[in-house]
Amino acid sequence: MIIHVSTPVIKPISHVVDTKALKSEVEYEYAQLLAKARKLKGSLMVIPSDPSNQRLISPSLLALTCPVAMVMKVKVGLIGTRETLRRIAEGTVYHRHYEQWFRSVNKDFDVYTEMALSSNDTVGVPDIVYCKDTCGLIELKAVWRLDDEHRGAYVRQMAMYYDLLRQSNMNVTEAWLVTMNTVELVGIRELTGRVNEAREYLKMASGNYPDVPPNPRLCVNCILTPVCPPYRNLSNRLLGLGGG
Ligand code: SF4
Repeated sequence: MIIHVSTPVIKPISHVVDTKALKSEVEYEYAQLLAKARKLKGSLMVIPSDPSNQRLISPSLLALTCPVAMVMKVKVGLIGTRETLRRIAEGTVYHRHYEQWFRSVNKDFDVYTEMALSSNDTVGVPDIVYCKDTCGLIELKAVWRLDDEHRGAYVRQMAMYYDLLRQSNMNVTEAWLVTMNTVELVGIRELTGRVNEAREYLKMASGNYPDVPPNPRLCVNCILTPVCPPYRNLSNRLLGLGGG
């Protein structure tokens, strides 16, 4: 028997969102974020995490390539430069408009954009879930380039959403990773294969800092080095060794 799975219209973000026309909306969103931010160190700012939410861990943390960055986000809050906040503002606005577009062109589907899924201490809100006979999951990332490290982190995040949807008895048969210029069908087999890894990784978010960076290669391009405890430990050790 052939089961026909209907697929909605899915396009890269930049094909459906007019980024130039949304400049003032991005500015407004950026100003909102800046108003919440406090100066932390040098050019770094922080939007403190809400203490009442600290027990709830979100799969969106899995998009961070370094587990220490996840712990910092839970313990301290969202840390970044003005550029980071601007990118977040762009992402928020582009996602909002993409979701509106998606609804308007896929009227045959039930579309959910604020579906809060929870299990134990994990609460996640996938970008888009659509359903007809079966369901599909869409993860939006407002990036132009995707290296292996980031793709891996995003797929790990999708694996967690997939798992939460499965626990809610939703039959997800398709999953898509959509960036500014790409649309990728991520195999369900790849997602199921990464659920345990995602769960384990997410557990680290509510733990303590490791003694030293788990993957020092990532520190080279990380903006968090001035405030990162494991990085400071590593630097002190290296300095100690240098002096001995
Ligand atoms: S400085 Fe290194 S260990 Fe610290 S968050 Fe960045 S990548 Fe991770």
